[in-house]
Amino acid sequence: MGQDSIVIVGGGLAAATTVNELREQGHTGTISLIGQEQELPYERPPLSKGYLQGNDKLEDFTVNPASWYQEHNVQLHLGVRAEKIDRENQQVSLSDGSTVDYDQLVLATGARPNLGGKQPFEGHDLPGVHLLRTVEQARALRETLSEDTQLAVIGSGWIGMEVAASARSRGARVTVYSPDEVPLAKVFGDRFGHHLLELHQRNGVDVRTSTRVDSIQETDGHLEVVSSAGTSRADVVLLAIGAVPNIELAHEAGLKTERGVIVDASLRSSDPKILAIGDIAEAFNTSLRRQLRVEHWDNAIRQGKLAAATLLGQDQNYDWAPYFFTDQFDLGMEYVGYSAPEDISVVRGDTETGEFIVFWLSEGKVTAAMNVNIWDVNDTLRGVLGKSIDQERLTDQSVDLAEL
Ligand SMILES: Cc1cc2nc3c(=O)[nH]c(=O)nc-3n(C[C@H](O)[C@H](O)[C@H](O)COP(=O)(O)OP(=O)(O)OC[C@H]3O[C@@H](n4cnc5c(N)ncnc54)[C@H](O)[C@@H]3O)c2cc1C
Repeated sequence: MGQDSIVIVGGGLAAATTVNELREQGHTGTISLIGQEQELPYERPPLSKGYLQGNDKLEDFTVNPASWYQEHNVQLHLGVRAEKIDRENQQVSLSDGSTVDYDQLVLATGARPNLGGKQPFEGHDLPGVHLLRTVEQARALRETLSEDTQLAVIGSGWIGMEVAASARSRGARVTVYSPDEVPLAKVFGDRFGHHLLELHQRNGVDVRTSTRVDSIQETDGHLEVVSSAGTSRADVVLLAIGAVPNIELAHEAGLKTERGVIVDASLRSSDPKILAIGDIAEAFNTSLRRQLRVEHWDNAIRQGKLAAATLLGQDQNYDWAPYFFTDQFDLGMEYVGYSAPEDISVVRGDTETGEFIVFWLSEGKVTAAMNVNIWDVNDTLRGVLGKSIDQERLTDQSVDLAEL
């Protein structure tokens, strides 16, 4: 196995982490990385935060410099798309007409912005309407943001809300269109949803809740957002209505796919020579005892490492709780666990102060926890997951977190 020729399709964080880990663990066989973007693999969270604000540079969040790949003898095929997998001959066809042979193949093709399903959102392709997934798209959006800009953000998920905050920091006037009564409340509960909503309102974002956008129109050289609340003018629009996993390559190769590529706890697909990781993987989580697909930075890193372990014949499993983070204005938070909308939530601390912890519980057991503007506690919170702890103890600040 140490000599296997390994091909990794996808030039994102999950792919780059697998490469790093393989070489770190002494894999000596050929490694080829195929990525359709021109850039070296980079992390995406800064695209809606520091990079959009103009504070971070691409090299700050590029996983490895070009020299690293050379020194570690990794064959990079950038700006090239993997178009077909021939499973019988263990070969991948690329958009430049070449082919690459593999002993083992890792798919890490990530996700793309949702354009609205089978019937794309009317006006998504107009000039001035932006999507956000790549550094190129972030650069194009950043160039439009100034004090003279009226930005309309369609969608109030994490990316929409983060972009709203970053655009305000560049002085733009921002309207967010949210189909929900309270953004993100379906997942995080009303209390945290309101907290976030008020944070945005305090910072001058016009959040139009319970508002459905029907289309984007171009009239007399400017854009108009047509919604259930009427028609409003915008200079720039960001369509941020979720992401779609890039599973077509796997599906067309006959691998089992549902909402993602179905993989087992060691990340092997229905073809044991092919693994899938990161945003596309619908993997069996041994702690939660269910298939799970998550679109988080931490997952791309952890699954990248696990894939390397599997490729090298080690017996490891996908057994950790999901984790993610966000930064908006002066709010930073980390969430760990997996809660269902019907779980009850309790708050430790005072939301008014902006520093608090939320726990979610189901049948008395902690399913998830979120620290807001309180740092270096997330590992402790991870340790609380799955435990039966009295709600009063959870919320009693005189009880040390570590004691829980
Ligand atoms: C703007 C933004 C902000 C985010 N912020 C956060 C955050 O704050 N916290 C958090 O936890 N997560 C965040 N995320 C999510 C996180 O970035 C993703 O979960 C992570 O990037 C997934 O990594 P990946 O390697 O699976 O996929 P990706 O990073 O999407 O990389 C996949 C790569 O594969 C390429 N590719 C696709 N198909 C092919 C093909 N056929 N051939 C060759 N290459 C192909 C793609 O072009 C892409 O370069 C954010 C995402 C975005 C877009």
